[in-house]
Amino acid sequence: MALVTSTQMFKKAYDGGYAIGAFNVNNMEIIQGITEAAMEEKAPLILQVSSGARKYAKHVYLMKLIEAAIADAEQSAGFDLPICVHLDHGDTFELCKSCIDGGFTSVMIDGSSKSFEDNIKLTRQVVEYAHDHGVVVEGELGTLAGVEDDVKVAAEDSSYTRPEEVEEFVSRTGVDSLAIAIGTSHGAYKFTAAQCTRNADGILVPPPLRFDILDEVSKRLPGFPIVLHGSSSVPQEFVKIINENGGKMPDAVGIPEAQLRQAARGAVCKINIDSDLRLAMTASIRQYMAEHPDHFDPRQYLKPARANIKALVKHKLVDVLGCNGKA
Ligand SMILES: [Zn+2]
Repeated sequence: MALVTSTQMFKKAYDGGYAIGAFNVNNMEIIQGITEAAMEEKAPLILQVSSGARKYAKHVYLMKLIEAAIADAEQSAGFDLPICVHLDHGDTFELCKSCIDGGFTSVMIDGSSKSFEDNIKLTRQVVEYAHDHGVVVEGELGTLAGVEDDVKVAAEDSSYTRPEEVEEFVSRTGVDSLAIAIGTSHGAYKFTAAQCTRNADGILVPPPLRFDILDEVSKRLPGFPIVLHGSSSVPQEFVKIINENGGKMPDAVGIPEAQLRQAARGAVCKINIDSDLRLAMTASIRQYMAEHPDHFDPRQYLKPARANIKALVKHKLVDVLGCNGKA
């Protein structure tokens, strides 16, 4: 099977009350861990690439690795693994065009830091080019706080999506899906201590997502796929392993998985997960290094790291996204 767009994935996800996982990739072990999990769970998949990941690994390596994952699923399991390759946070027309020309099946144009009119203008330009080439486009309204690769937004500059803007934005741009800001945040430090309460174990508890905004947006855009960025849950068991093995990540906190599951039941069709993959990999490598100070073959610590990513992704597909068995 060739790469697919997210059009059919989102339609089925919307009607079926689940969401597709959009996992960020930048090397072979991460791609293998994610795709093996999707293959075993028979889950449709979005692999997304940020401009930072593209600079790190080079476009051609990532495309060939993803093609290899599809070929491997077919050869080893006789399974057509549906994969959509998506540009995460494209910030210029040129970057989007380069990814479209290079074989991506979906791009995001993030004009959320611009004025409403400039966001529409830029997004419309990308949509025209993308649709001419059979590629779908995700736009964004509202601004998420946090740090992810080249995207850095201070909490005071973030803003929730204004539901009264979504219909005009979608109709004037022609986007295929829309990322909205309802209180998720990029990175492993999604909230400051001042924004949270603490539970009995001293772990930060973040403010709940603004489901009222999501409800209002989905009422105004019936049947239209909504996207959540910054939706890692920052599993505390990984943070603990990292901190117990030489790491220093105080107060790392994410979005509770029960809230993401709730969002996936409604109009949210795509949930972005990046930080959790990084934490799974880093926790595994830190623990391995601490337990085996004499080992120096990268395969020795990358093998359990890859297995940890696979286990995490399986959990997300089944318990958070609900997209297992939907491919
Ligand atoms: Zn994002």
